[in-house]
Amino acid sequence: MNRKVYDKLIFELSHEGRRGARIPDNGIILRQAALPSELLREAPLSLPEVDEPTAVRHYNNMSTNNFGVDTGFYPLGSCTMKYNPKINEEMASHRCFARLHPFTPAAACQGALRLYWTLQKALCEIGGMAEFTLNPFAGAHGELTGLMTIRAYHASRGDFDRRRKVIVPDSAHGTNPASAAVCGLEVVEVKSRPDGTVDIDALAPLLDDSVAAMMLTNPNTLGIFESNIPQIAEMVHACGGLMYYDGANLNPMLGVARPGDMGFDVMHINLHKTFSTPHGGGGPGSGPVGVRAGMEQFLPNPRVVYNDSDHSFSVEYEPEALGSISATLGNFAVQARALSYILTMGSDGLMQVGPLATLNATYIKEALKDLYLLPIDGLTKHEFVFDGLADKSTGITTLNIAKRLLDMGYHAPTIYFPLLFHESLMIEPTETESRETLDAFIDAMRTIAREAAEDPETVRSAPHLTPVTHPDDTAAAINPIVTFS
Ligand SMILES: *Cc1c(COP(=O)(O)O)cnc(C)c1O
Repeated sequence: MNRKVYDKLIFELSHEGRRGARIPDNGIILRQAALPSELLREAPLSLPEVDEPTAVRHYNNMSTNNFGVDTGFYPLGSCTMKYNPKINEEMASHRCFARLHPFTPAAACQGALRLYWTLQKALCEIGGMAEFTLNPFAGAHGELTGLMTIRAYHASRGDFDRRRKVIVPDSAHGTNPASAAVCGLEVVEVKSRPDGTVDIDALAPLLDDSVAAMMLTNPNTLGIFESNIPQIAEMVHACGGLMYYDGANLNPMLGVARPGDMGFDVMHINLHKTFSTPHGGGGPGSGPVGVRAGMEQFLPNPRVVYNDSDHSFSVEYEPEALGSISATLGNFAVQARALSYILTMGSDGLMQVGPLATLNATYIKEALKDLYLLPIDGLTKHEFVFDGLADKSTGITTLNIAKRLLDMGYHAPTIYFPLLFHESLMIEPTETESRETLDAFIDAMRTIAREAAEDPETVRSAPHLTPVTHPDDTAAAINPIVTFS
């Protein structure tokens, strides 16, 4: 699978005067002279000049330098990279949706509002919540929105001034403490036990009437289901705090349990992870926020309301809301994909997602745990963490293993996270992979373990077969060059 490297920028392929197709000037096409003079730029723009085949080949070849879930298995722990069915893309790019202006009057976009409303209702059912807003643009944005909702709830009871603390486990995703801080709240860390679950004895002394909320991710970063949730929720509620559920990765829960039934008051879901939108490199995303009954009025504006009298949908502004966290109704194309996914799966299909995600992860874990170090050998859900190779005498690191996997045609798992172990290798296969794919991946991992013992230099110097082999990660992080000049 040795591939040719296409590493030229299109500017480097440029030759003065080269053009693509020329469109004859029939007098209709807007001419430069027709633009108001104050809008015209003096200096010539520095644009690449290439012929059409060069442009087409450049972009097509570049796309083959990349690795995506459409080209291979992508077992990235914590940030679910499942296969995204193409029907969802087709629905989202339907011209009736794709060409809709965000400020189209409600009367002229009833279909789009129905889509938003239907997805809201589906998420209420899935999360066990009373109401959802789909407006936040990402998981972190959802966390901020959820915490602002909690703040508005406490403020409505005249109780916000003293409730400034948000309790966050030390194993939480980094966005949790960041969102709390952005929301003007004080982050208080609670220690985890060695298996990543909350240490109740460490939690108890933190609970008093200064607590606004506690944020929990479940299953936790190690893929372990937090078994003490009812007790934790009771303790936090007893001191007047609210329970926040980070549902960025809801796969393992689908068909198994609902945050609303476990005592959570507020939650967010990442549609781009759990409900199938291709994502990476920062977007696109959508982080809907759900609340339990009695908190609906605090969700942000605008909101979509169904009017029973004439079966129409309208866009409303609730006076008690926390305000607006986005100009419009959120990232509509991601919402469209999510609803398409939910409807094509059906409730029977969705019920199988959690058990299958868990089965696939457990299958890989059990097939590799003789060669890779499993620091906590408990029941895990949709993902699990190895602490590098079991045989530490080879000197082969998790980074070496991850890079050798690239040679074998796999995207690397998440590495060096969570920070609980030195050589973390976090694997999440997702429910979308076949047994054959899992078996082939297991083979590759076993081959690497054997190579580590017999031919460590091959593993240490990997990757050998990728278009780019050994970029200087540190230089790229310290001194990024993000523009072409
Ligand atoms: C991905 C993730 C987030 C953040 O979501 P973004 O859409 O990247 O902002 C929050 N919590 C957990 C557990 C996640 O995996």
